[in-house]
Amino acid sequence: MEKLAAPRGTADVYPPQSERWQSLEARIHQIARRFGYGEIRTPTFESTELFVRGVGDATDIVEKEMYSFTDRGGRSLTLRPELTAPVVRAILEHNLLAQGPQRLYYVGPIFRYERPQKGRYRESHQFGVECFGYAEPEADVEVIQICRELLRAHGIDATLEINSIGDAACRPAYRDALLAHFRPRAGELSAESRQRLERNPLRVLDSKAPEDRAAVESAPSFENHLCGPCAAHFSRVRALLDAIGQPYHVNPRIVRGLDYYTRTVFEFISDALGAQSAVCGGGRYDDLVAALGGPATPGVGFALGLERFLMVLDAVGHDARPARDGIAVIALGETARTRLVPLVAELRRESGAVPITIDYSEARIGSQLKRADRANARAAIIAGDEEIARRALTLRDLALRTQSDLEEVADHGAAARSVLEWYRALPGEIVPGTLAV
Ligand code: ATP
Ligand code: MG
Repeated sequence: MEKLAAPRGTADVYPPQSERWQSLEARIHQIARRFGYGEIRTPTFESTELFVRGVGDATDIVEKEMYSFTDRGGRSLTLRPELTAPVVRAILEHNLLAQGPQRLYYVGPIFRYERPQKGRYRESHQFGVECFGYAEPEADVEVIQICRELLRAHGIDATLEINSIGDAACRPAYRDALLAHFRPRAGELSAESRQRLERNPLRVLDSKAPEDRAAVESAPSFENHLCGPCAAHFSRVRALLDAIGQPYHVNPRIVRGLDYYTRTVFEFISDALGAQSAVCGGGRYDDLVAALGGPATPGVGFALGLERFLMVLDAVGHDARPARDGIAVIALGETARTRLVPLVAELRRESGAVPITIDYSEARIGSQLKRADRANARAAIIAGDEEIARRALTLRDLALRTQSDLEEVADHGAAARSVLEWYRALPGEIVPGTLAV
């Protein structure tokens, strides 16, 4: 039989990698909470129409990346390629805007039919925030700050690149300026950019094709075409970034792939990612809620790729090895197991977040200790014939390689508390390459 494998561009996450995911997700929930954002969970699939209308049919996502299918009832559904449109759909469906501005965040999978490569997958995961109801530039800077805090909490140094792509008042004139610039150069452009030119010339600026570089670099920048209100908004965003000490670089080539952005667009870029350089992308989308049938409501947000975030963490090497954690119970033989199973039950009741594991196999002490060491346990409790004869347990610190004895007592609850007291008093471990955050 042919070996079964996960689909191309997807990945399994299992220990110890899953621990990194858990701690990143825990940090995300903590930071979002600190900024007053509440979690929203939406379905993994939605009607295809939501993405066609909410992402835009002249985008990479809608043109070529969606996982769409017809269900048994004949409806066209799509695995979500992003979450902003679903979040807008949900807040409209539940009328959340009636309660005033909404600060929401999400963490979950997205699906895009892409050519899999490092940092680019068919199923990937995003953390995103959406702030609805504020047109003020303070909100733009607030969401940028959330992203910055997450990067900072992990010791990651990423560059903020920002731009403004105006609004319905000034974009038509800029569009004309771009057309006037690119049309005479159409012959030099990539086939994709030639196609995009007439539908959405802004997207040509986004092109990664090397043959487009010269024409893109000499293209007029939006800054000189912004209308008064958009120019004022952009300059206030920059002043506020200065005020909170967030460095940035204005990059006129940042236009973002989605159609619904207005005014501020931004990305956090890391050298550690090579060609897939953006760890996070976001911006303002003041026209989206109305485009999806809601009341005109400004919004701003970002989405950050968790896989890319972890790649950057790998590259900067800050969490090379997590500190040891937990107690491995080693019971050598059936008599020892009979004694230790009730102790383990008590330990698991009392241990809080400390993991307690027990090996039920008949493996020798040497190989059981090796397994405990590989599982990154901090300590071991050992009971073999010798311990049974002495009516004692051996407590071993696997990090510092010291050990002591615990007299066995009849009361398992009392024994568990003694073990945990000993465990919690163990001296701190020095782990190379870790960052205390
Ligand atoms: P790119 O230009 O790299 O294709 P994008 O503009 O399509 O990015 P967004 O839609 O803004 O990306 O998504 C926000 C973030 O989600 C990206 O900055 C990236 O970190 C992550 N991301 C997007 N697509 C993928 C993917 N296929 N695999 C892994 N991460 C992804
Ligand atoms: Mg993309």
